[in-house]
Amino acid sequence: MSSQWIFLGDQFVKKEDAVVSVYDHGFLYGDGVFEGIRVYNGNIFKLDEHLNRLYDSAQSIMLRVPYTKEELQQIIVDTVRKNNLDSAYIRVVVSRGPGNLGLDPRHCSNPRLIVIAEQLALYPKELYERGIRVASVPSRRNRPDVLSPQIKSLNYLNNILVKMEANLTGVDEALMLNDQGYVTEGSADNIFIIKNGTIYTPPVYLGALEGITRNAIIDLAKANGYEIKESPFTRHDVYIADEVFLTGTAVEVIAVIDVDGRKIANGKPGPITNHLLEDFRRIVTIDGVQCYPTSSNSAVV
Ligand code: PMP
Repeated sequence: MSSQWIFLGDQFVKKEDAVVSVYDHGFLYGDGVFEGIRVYNGNIFKLDEHLNRLYDSAQSIMLRVPYTKEELQQIIVDTVRKNNLDSAYIRVVVSRGPGNLGLDPRHCSNPRLIVIAEQLALYPKELYERGIRVASVPSRRNRPDVLSPQIKSLNYLNNILVKMEANLTGVDEALMLNDQGYVTEGSADNIFIIKNGTIYTPPVYLGALEGITRNAIIDLAKANGYEIKESPFTRHDVYIADEVFLTGTAVEVIAVIDVDGRKIANGKPGPITNHLLEDFRRIVTIDGVQCYPTSSNSAVV
């Protein structure tokens, strides 16, 4: 039986041996940053963008990533190869590392890198065909001036709470509003609505992570000649939209067919959503950093 290898600190260890200290501030306080990245057909999708965002998150919280971008890129490629994966989800974590029980990160002298690569399907296939149901939730998106949603930190309690609140109402995903009541994003995905042929997504300053899938979809929409606007909207605009969909590395692109009990249009994934989903599936397999020199497509390692 082949085992799963995880990059931990400075070496590959078996999954069973991949353990971190209970004094790691990533564990004690959520003090660290992370990325979720996908591999399609041996190509790592938008790796540069993910690495840039990881280093930006680390810069913002004054965390030293213990490798250069080039070194980390190689470690990620090696992790995919070592696990013989062709299509996978990669989790890159940089924690502040072990310290003492106090908050002060000056006691954490060894930031810790973890790279995990494995298979992931967030929702069953039927939901991608049928679409998901979403509900707005009581907890608001944390304000950008309190803890910026642009920092992809290990502190995901805001996101976990809204996911639980959504699950409690029996739906699949949360719709997070900001403190002004404007729509921001889902628990781990960006939101798009379509009305009269125009595609809208909230500007990130309202309180959404600038998703890499979001940006890829904006590029695809423009390339396909759709009008796309980054502009604020409310729940009302979502309820009366012709189409609604979510994007994210883990979820990819998924249609939303019901929001707070309001059926969206005819309750089926709409034509523009389906078009963008198909186009997204087409580009992900050809646009990325190649892990296996022998595979057919695209860029260099
Ligand atoms: N918003 C949040 C809060 C997220 O955690 C994610 C997942 N990284 C996204 C949006 C989607 O971002 P991306 O497309 O870069 O995965």
